[in-house]
Amino acid sequence: MAAGKSGSLDLAAKREAGQSSAAGKGSAGTESGRVALSIDVEDWFHAANLARAVPPEAWDACELRVERNTMRMLQILDAANVRATFFVLGWVAERCPRLVRSIAEAGHEVACHGYGHQLVTSLGADEFRADVSRAKHHLEDLLGAPVRGYRAPSFSITDWAIPILQEVGFEYDSSVVPTIAHDRYGKLTGMDAGRPVTLLREGFHEVSISCLRLGKRGIPWGGGGYFRLAPYALWVQGVRAILRSGRPYVFYIHPWEIDAGQPRVSGMKPFEMFRHRINLSRCEERFIALAGAFPWTTIGDLIDEEKLRVPGGKRSAASMRTIETLQSCLTWSPAFFC
Ligand SMILES: [Zn+2]
Repeated sequence: MAAGKSGSLDLAAKREAGQSSAAGKGSAGTESGRVALSIDVEDWFHAANLARAVPPEAWDACELRVERNTMRMLQILDAANVRATFFVLGWVAERCPRLVRSIAEAGHEVACHGYGHQLVTSLGADEFRADVSRAKHHLEDLLGAPVRGYRAPSFSITDWAIPILQEVGFEYDSSVVPTIAHDRYGKLTGMDAGRPVTLLREGFHEVSISCLRLGKRGIPWGGGGYFRLAPYALWVQGVRAILRSGRPYVFYIHPWEIDAGQPRVSGMKPFEMFRHRINLSRCEERFIALAGAFPWTTIGDLIDEEKLRVPGGKRSAASMRTIETLQSCLTWSPAFFC
């Protein structure tokens, strides 16, 4: 496996993970302990930063590395005895059916990352419906079980896509990063960093990626290049701060992020190269440390736990929104005055 050399930060990460395990994952009592881990199963050439350099017509000529990298992630999660949600790209599922079954057989949740990894905002409604339907049906045929969740490529979700996801049969979306710190991220009306699990419509939830609150803005603290760039010990401190505030924490990563040996391609701009390759050689060790540091579960389970937290069980979407708004205000009232 291409893990590369470990740095001093990563040695600190291992020590921190060991201390956390010894103290009990999640440090019950000071943190909510509701932590969901998600993996977007795509290959190195699907990443948005390579979209110009490696267009879809060239994908079939690229070396397929996703199966090996994802199997390595399954080993890491198994060693840590934790579960995750895998948002599998339909294009990958067609070429790696054994991988999809292995994920499910290991007890993880299989969810959907669409088929062709085009930004939702670049598609029309009919194109989007065709893309997500194709991927969802293929995954369900492979698994013989329903697929509940969807994540948009590069978090490019937008309001008009939500009713289509529900029509197609999804129960949740997990594509909002409540921040203004990234040019590609989409937005949904009514979402903010104080409400990571929201009932958007009757029978349909949004689970947003975690951010640290800075005034009214969110700093992305849920994974990707941010996870590879920040010192690991600082990252864990941020996760614990989010949990102490009473909010669940939602993390994401890609299999190609633990693969420093992936091919280099020409035609990438310097900032695209930086975003894609920063600290790839240290990411596997960081992921091992993080997997062992908290009691991770799936996004589907996180939603089900949130439903149980509502007294009386089933409520209307309107009453759920009221309750969540109150909870959000109570949780975030100090931030509103920053
Ligand atoms: Zn993706």
